[in-house]
Amino acid sequence: MKLARLGDGAEIFHTVQGEGVSVGVPAVFVRLSLCNLHCVWCDTDHTWNFAGTPWKHEKDAVPGYAKVRKEDAIIEMDVAEVAGEVRKFGCRHVVLTGGEPLLHEKELVELMEELRGDGADWFFEIETNGTRMPGAEAVGAIDRFNVSPKLSNSGVDSGLRKKTDVVRGLAGTGKAWFKFVVEKDGDLEEIFEMVGEAGIPKGRVILMPEGRNVGEIDKVAPWLAERCRDFGVRFSDRLHVRLWGDRRGV
Ligand code: SF4
Repeated sequence: MKLARLGDGAEIFHTVQGEGVSVGVPAVFVRLSLCNLHCVWCDTDHTWNFAGTPWKHEKDAVPGYAKVRKEDAIIEMDVAEVAGEVRKFGCRHVVLTGGEPLLHEKELVELMEELRGDGADWFFEIETNGTRMPGAEAVGAIDRFNVSPKLSNSGVDSGLRKKTDVVRGLAGTGKAWFKFVVEKDGDLEEIFEMVGEAGIPKGRVILMPEGRNVGEIDKVAPWLAERCRDFGVRFSDRLHVRLWGDRRGV
């Protein structure tokens, strides 16, 4: 299983969920490596934006910025090892994240089975970009899908990022919430077009400001919260950015 490397180990850490419908809930995060998209504002680009790749990123403008070397950014662990790391925290709410964790669907199903082998009441959320429809085993094992379909503000071609059938399929599981990253007022039209096309229930829509620091979030959050109120959809802040900035492993 390919995980994001942090120091000598994997990026598996105990924190509180910072976004979406379970914001504030204590959880163990398991960060998988690799992604099939390449969003220009991605805040976990160490999972995919490796040296030698052609992808553009907002960080390119930061003086001294250099892409990570793939061999430094990934750690391979087997499922039992990952389960052992997760168990150490004594917290049974787990967020499977990335990158795009569904690139590792088979191993994640094994991981959930392994952890549930102790008979305890585990809860698994997965954060996915909505481009891959998981199979029946994964749908059965996962308790909540946090789906974040990408808009044109991601800089990714629509053919890669926009998979209406997948989003419709995820909505049909009854376990999915749909979180859209908003940069500007003009994004809202694109979001509601997507919501209509894919048949996403309005009650499952969450709008969240784009921003990798508090200043960027605060440019969007006040007016976006008002738009959420007017549209009758849920607003999400980015709690972890407010608390810890862009630090990893917290
Ligand atoms: S889909 Fe998510 S992890 Fe992948 S590049 Fe976009 S924001 Fe980053």
